[in-house]
Amino acid sequence: MSTAGTILIIDLTTRKIEREPTSSYVKKFIGMAGIGARLFTEHVSPTTKAFDEDNMLVFSTGPLTGTLFGNKSNIASRTPEQPNNPYVHTGMGGQLPSEMKFAGYDHILIKGKSEKPVYISINNDSVQFVDAGNLWGLDVYKTQAAIRKECKDPDVRVACIGPAGENRVVHALILHDIDHTASRGGLGAVMGDKKLKALAVRGTKGLKVADPQAVRDLWQQYYDYYTQGRGHHFYDTWKRGGFARHVVNGYKYRRRKESGIYSDETKEMLKKYMVGSLGCSFCPLQCHINYFMPGIGSGGAVCSNHGMLMSYPDEKVWWAATNSMHKYGIEQYAAWNIILWLQGMYRTGAIKASDVDGIEIDQYAVEPITAVIDKICNREGFGELFAGGLGEGAKIMAGGVGFKFLDWVSKNRNRPSFAMQDSEMRGFAETGRAIRYRTGDLCCHPFWFDGYANVEIFAEEMGRSVQEVEKIIDGWSAEGVKKWLGDDADENLWRPDVYDIKQAKLTVMSEDQNMLCDLSGHCELPSERELHFGCFGGYEETSNWINALEGGGCTVKHLEEVAQMTRTMIDAYNALCFMTHKELKPEAAEVPMKDTIHDKYLKKIKVDKEKLQEIGEEYCKIRGYDPQTGIPTVETLEKMGLRDMAVKLEEKLRESGNFVAQREPESHSPALAADM
Ligand code: SF4
Repeated sequence: MSTAGTILIIDLTTRKIEREPTSSYVKKFIGMAGIGARLFTEHVSPTTKAFDEDNMLVFSTGPLTGTLFGNKSNIASRTPEQPNNPYVHTGMGGQLPSEMKFAGYDHILIKGKSEKPVYISINNDSVQFVDAGNLWGLDVYKTQAAIRKECKDPDVRVACIGPAGENRVVHALILHDIDHTASRGGLGAVMGDKKLKALAVRGTKGLKVADPQAVRDLWQQYYDYYTQGRGHHFYDTWKRGGFARHVVNGYKYRRRKESGIYSDETKEMLKKYMVGSLGCSFCPLQCHINYFMPGIGSGGAVCSNHGMLMSYPDEKVWWAATNSMHKYGIEQYAAWNIILWLQGMYRTGAIKASDVDGIEIDQYAVEPITAVIDKICNREGFGELFAGGLGEGAKIMAGGVGFKFLDWVSKNRNRPSFAMQDSEMRGFAETGRAIRYRTGDLCCHPFWFDGYANVEIFAEEMGRSVQEVEKIIDGWSAEGVKKWLGDDADENLWRPDVYDIKQAKLTVMSEDQNMLCDLSGHCELPSERELHFGCFGGYEETSNWINALEGGGCTVKHLEEVAQMTRTMIDAYNALCFMTHKELKPEAAEVPMKDTIHDKYLKKIKVDKEKLQEIGEEYCKIRGYDPQTGIPTVETLEKMGLRDMAVKLEEKLRESGNFVAQREPESHSPALAADM
């Protein structure tokens, strides 16, 4: 079966290794984010903090991972980047997720703390703790090379941390291969705190599938759709390098005031330094790009890595910084945000050169920029102030004079405003109180977003005018709305300048579609999330794929219920964390409503806050959350069969005097509840 069959539990403190079958979780929680969240919430109390010994890292795969239909894993933990150390789960692709399955493991739970630096080496049934004293201090690329050499096996897949993680910098990430990262929340700092330098996996068992002919037929259908189906224009623009190809091909991108923001010199330079593309195992898109610049080095980049080139089109500085951030293992948005804030403070005279250890911080050049990255990741000099994030550093540097210039998100969450936590990137229910407990998993584009950002690219690909393509995408968006909400739904509901209560349901559908990918192991990029330009890979296809692989039993209805339940389980757990850590101020959990958002042309439009608030409240009702607090109700958890969480939540709500009984005798999801 495509489920490998085993959950591996590793205790770094006691060096104990246990195994248990995955089967007892599969029926109810399917896989990846579902089983991962369940395992985590069973094992780790809401009182736990990121750097506590009983915090765990959970590496999870799904039923599609390691097959032709999926390549992803999901990594979860309590993480330090935000003040209450909430639960964060984030995806990581590459080859390692498949390798985990081929070694026989669906999930790997890592708990405890090692006294000395160590890495875990897994080769099928063999699981070993290996001294990593010689690797401590090495960057992520050298670490991977050293482990492969030590194992005498070039096919060992390694997920590791760099010095940022070792030093528990809150923006540290986990990196695998050249740029497959688990970058949200500060998961790398958790690994560093556990003195775990790397997880190295080699598996040769392969996977058995229930119906090989059905798998072949479904793959052919999928491949034909990639290459000839309605969505092939989208796939064509993303394959072999994704966004980087857009840049060097001179495609325009509607994300800024004017299109074609990259200069010809920048495009030429990038083209010159591109040495190939790569991606996740078995995926035909291979959307990552590989660069090599003499004097700086080689490494990988994805779409988001190119963002800084729009504002600062100096490819050498950009690549030196990007490459350095990768090597240290620090999340680039957060690191750039610190650099840009320091430059702004210096230029306005709020800080002096002596505040940044004499670095010429106002120079946009390789040396000063990489020197700042060195300082932060090594916690040296002024860098120590920012190891806890921009908000923490700004509170202290130069008497805290620059703190007031930060936006709300940077002040409260230590995250840059252009990360997905920025509410303008959210769907229609963006102001709903329910999202206040979302943490690292907000990567859910508004329905229309990619379609219109890329409209000029499609025009070129399709040989049509921009106006014609806009009409086509309008039509596909309308079709998408009807597919998700029914034929009687107004086809304009996807538009951000239209307000309708049904948009709450559209947001739920869009979020749950993302969660479906997080449950199954299918990448969200070529999935039904991008329905509005003809991508496929939604509930129906996922159900067919899983049934062909597993031999049946997976219905569309079940997938929908589990996606919804997983969302609720994570939100409830994070609400429990917030209620448990009383030192937290409630406002730190609530994203303020924005005055403006972007329309489909990415022009700013005024928000009707009253209407949006109504949509947010409707969203809470659909999800079964209390519209006043944004917390899943006890009744919702019970109906979903999450009795243990319901009991804990009721206890906390009673303690705070906020419990209002709303019990209903019938289960909302009887199939799920019956399994408990
Ligand atoms: S499209 Fe998704 S699965 Fe494919 S290479 Fe890109 S990130 Fe990996």
